[in-house]
Amino acid sequence: MEPPVKRSQPQRVSDHREALREDFWYSCAYCTLTELEAQGIEFEVDHYLPTSRFPKLAYDYDNKMYCCSKCNRNKGDYVSDERSDLGLIRPDRDVPDEHLRIDGDDLIAASAKGEVSIDVLRLNRRALRTLRALRRQIADDTDYVSEGVRGLRRWSVDRIRNDLKWKFEEAKERAVALGRDVLEAKERWVEAIARSPLVDVDATVFGHTEARRSQLDELHAIAPRARVVRTSGKKPGAAPSSRKTRAKKQR
Ligand SMILES: [Zn+2]
Repeated sequence: MEPPVKRSQPQRVSDHREALREDFWYSCAYCTLTELEAQGIEFEVDHYLPTSRFPKLAYDYDNKMYCCSKCNRNKGDYVSDERSDLGLIRPDRDVPDEHLRIDGDDLIAASAKGEVSIDVLRLNRRALRTLRALRRQIADDTDYVSEGVRGLRRWSVDRIRNDLKWKFEEAKERAVALGRDVLEAKERWVEAIARSPLVDVDATVFGHTEARRSQLDELHAIAPRARVVRTSGKKPGAAPSSRKTRAKKQR
């Protein structure tokens, strides 16, 4: 597996912040909170290796992370030693799933790096546990309805008494249609929340963000949906449109 974040190469330092937003797909490098879920928590530019100790890296794009203000505070001047296991997980170089697992609303460490990250960044703080519960609920509700629709479809009319068959067929059709409506309404609702004029971006321009977008989709994060502009012939890097795949791992 590849690290989910691929970096672009902005030419000017003044472009760094916007480039980071896109590269990290509007979400915190460390806790995956998205701008749309943040509800007033601000986002900042973090220096992975702190400038207090590494002033030469102050303008180095590769040392910059898009980061929520809470993680940034918790991280403080922590110095990651990337040659040892004492580095914080960084989604542009590490595969987060190799270091962290979800257990209910909590993250548990699957490696020493995971342990350090949970500890330093306080990745099991109350707000993040609530966030994981909310994300799971969105996913579970969708699963529940889809499961019901699938179950009804499988139900055979043969099992029903002859004089009630027509009634069953009618009820089944209504329930399946209703289930479909609920799923569609939910998808529209998530999309409406996830759309913002500030982050309504064209996915064809940001093809390199595809891995990060699908990571967030797997986590059931409410992340900006990219506006997919279809060009003739070639299919562009599609925005994550399906929430059907039930992720076992949720951060
Ligand atoms: Zn964060």
